[in-house]
Amino acid sequence: MEAIKNNKSAEEYEKLIKEMRQLQATFLDNMSHELRTPITVILGYAGILADELEDPDLKEMAEIVLKSSNRLTESLNLLLDQSAIQSDSLQVEFEETELSKLIENSTNVYKPVAEDKNLKLEFINNCDSVKCRIDRKMFDKVMDNLLSNAIKYTKAGSITVKLESINKEGKVYAKIDVADTGIGIEEEKQGLIFEAFRQVSEGMNRLYQGTGLGLSVTKKFVELMNGEIKVSSKLNEGTTFSIFFPADSFSSN
Ligand code: ADP
Repeated sequence: MEAIKNNKSAEEYEKLIKEMRQLQATFLDNMSHELRTPITVILGYAGILADELEDPDLKEMAEIVLKSSNRLTESLNLLLDQSAIQSDSLQVEFEETELSKLIENSTNVYKPVAEDKNLKLEFINNCDSVKCRIDRKMFDKVMDNLLSNAIKYTKAGSITVKLESINKEGKVYAKIDVADTGIGIEEEKQGLIFEAFRQVSEGMNRLYQGTGLGLSVTKKFVELMNGEIKVSSKLNEGTTFSIFFPADSFSSN
């Protein structure tokens, strides 16, 4: 990079970087389409087979294909998000949105996943009509990452999602907590978890599978939407991730 920089004028250098970013964004779009289309077909047919097959062995096989394809989709989405972040090709589509509806949808999607592990998943809504300017797709991904981690890293107990409005230095913010009663994170490692590819459960990798990308993508998305994310956790007791977004309008319950 330095060599390129030295031989080119600042203007030429900027143009080159812009072209490279455009190329990478186009490549990501194409890859995304090329990979997502066949996975969607596999997911669709595996779902039909899992529902329709009566032979228990064949049904189990179809369910494994379905589960594996879902995992592949999640990993692919994270890789594509991470690449889009690195190439600076993300467009944030801000929309004034009532957060409680989006959070309710996300928790409803994850309820059966939590129930599969005998975990209780609850949404406490203390601020019905808080509205924030966010990108809905990004917000959904943030909730997906936090909820799937909370379920993944919790063996017993519950996951509680709470929405409230808070006052900070004269400004109103929506605060969303995702709290679990899981394995927790040691204090000295809490600073690392938002870095790409870092897994505090290193060494436990086989027990807890994942790409190590979820939280770095989550943090970036929250910040792109002008929000903030914090973690508080106690080893073997549980973890709470809190996200804050400036509120446009609100009314408390
Ligand atoms: P991964 O794919 O490993 O889950 P993430 O970026 O989502 O990657 O998270 C990074 C690391 O943070 C995880 O490997 C895990 O060690 C830790 N972590 C994330 N969420 C939780 C949680 N709810 N409870 C305990 N540890 C967590």
